[in-house]
Amino acid sequence: MSKLSIVVPVFNEEEAIPIFFQAIERVHQNLSEYDFEYWFIDDGSTDQSMSAIKQLQTQSEWVHYVQFSRNFGKEAAIYAGLEHASGDYVALMDVDLQDPPELLPEMLDGVASDEWDMVGSRRINRVGEPPVRTFFSNLFYKLINKISATHLVNGARDYRVMNRQVVNAILSDGEYNRFSKGIVAWVGFRQKYIPFENVERVAGKTSWSFWSLLKYSVEGIVAFSQVPLTVIGILGVVSFITSIIGALLIFLRALLVPHSAVGGWPSLVVIILFMGGIQLLSLGIVGRYVAAIYLETKHRPIYIAREVK
Ligand code: UDP
Ligand code: MG
Repeated sequence: MSKLSIVVPVFNEEEAIPIFFQAIERVHQNLSEYDFEYWFIDDGSTDQSMSAIKQLQTQSEWVHYVQFSRNFGKEAAIYAGLEHASGDYVALMDVDLQDPPELLPEMLDGVASDEWDMVGSRRINRVGEPPVRTFFSNLFYKLINKISATHLVNGARDYRVMNRQVVNAILSDGEYNRFSKGIVAWVGFRQKYIPFENVERVAGKTSWSFWSLLKYSVEGIVAFSQVPLTVIGILGVVSFITSIIGALLIFLRALLVPHSAVGGWPSLVVIILFMGGIQLLSLGIVGRYVAAIYLETKHRPIYIAREVK
């Protein structure tokens, strides 16, 4: 019998955990040719999530957990889950039921039939989400797909079913700054995305703020594109050439039409501000990459477990 490991990152989800488990067990009834194994990764929750998970362990011998020593973020939780999962296939799911369990049989079938190595999911709308967030989200996907060789599917969720080969490939990438949407696309293999209508979370509230999403997208760009560095290089060259031409023109004018120089103080200030601004911006962009290198060279562990059971 094949085994499916279900990896579930959990951060302050005490209400959602039992609802989630019931929903998956219902789906399991129609997939009785599989053993299900659960890996709940408690990402440093401060509510009663841990006791909710331990409660499930009393109901089923297939429930396991890794408890982090603090909040390491969803990406670290995903990594820990993939590391511990022992199944032939691994499904990654959010606990808030925004990843419809009804899709699971179709996704699992796609991978188990060996037609695909990974079947993911993609929401085709973002009902219930603040419009500003949708706007910036779409902007992010447009931008990163222009400047990165790795193609990201707009609306793709972390909800996916993978075979062993894909899981091992993802685990072999041990980078610290993990942007798993990018990593999954980057490892290749035969991938398919199933579209579905957005579902709002069943309980609790999202732990992503606008700023945490913005930070996350900058990390994604830094991890998967070097184009920003090229762009500032080009900006530097263009402004250098422009200044040479300007200097020549001024020199020529002084030679040909003596005493023609005018005040020009405001325009000078504007030019200085403009150049200073571009320089600081460029420094900031370079800084993001340096910071990424700095973190990567420390070889810190991606997560620290307090307890595994
Ligand atoms: N999550 C996590 N660590 C975090 C934040 C979130 O493990 O630091 C988990 C969370 O419990 C949920 C999943 O990641 O299972 C998705 O989080 P959320 O629903 O807040 O994100 P959204 O669906 O709004 O993108
Ligand atoms: Mg959610």
